[in-house]
Amino acid sequence: MAATADCPIMFLDVDGVLIPFRARPTEPTSAERYAAPPADDDEGNPLLGRLDPEDGHRLRSLGCRLVWATTWMSDANEQVAPRLGLPELPVVDFPDDDDEPEHGLHWKTPFLIRWAAGRTFVWLDDEITDTDRRWVHAHYEGRALLHRADPAVGVTPNDFEVIRRWLAETSAAVAAS
Ligand SMILES: [Mg+2]
Repeated sequence: MAATADCPIMFLDVDGVLIPFRARPTEPTSAERYAAPPADDDEGNPLLGRLDPEDGHRLRSLGCRLVWATTWMSDANEQVAPRLGLPELPVVDFPDDDDEPEHGLHWKTPFLIRWAAGRTFVWLDDEITDTDRRWVHAHYEGRALLHRADPAVGVTPNDFEVIRRWLAETSAAVAAS
């Protein structure tokens, strides 16, 4: 499905979502890795090997406007997107600011709300808490799904199913309103 300006936004985190903190079952052990000569694309962050190109297909099939919301910032376009078969995506610019938001809110939350500006969005991140959900529910005028991935395993097909269902229900609700 091609994403247009009217499509819901999908804010995407990288670490703990697209790059799980635990090794993938298919990943070579460190002994195997040291025994093998380094592949060309092994340069840089070795955790990039944990990216699953299938996640790129799954993300594209959601029909959302994908947007990076990660401390990788523009590096996500250089290093992550090509490995997932994704085009260059917009990047939420998080200012270098040490002020933590109050009340246990995630530091990304206020910036994402501002970026979304009333449009429907999904935020996929491993650090979302109920505090963020409650705050967005109380302060955001648009429709929003804050979906937490388990950082050990990253985003799973089941997570995609939950997001897909929410998007379908939301678009039905918008069509009916
Ligand atoms: Mg993360």
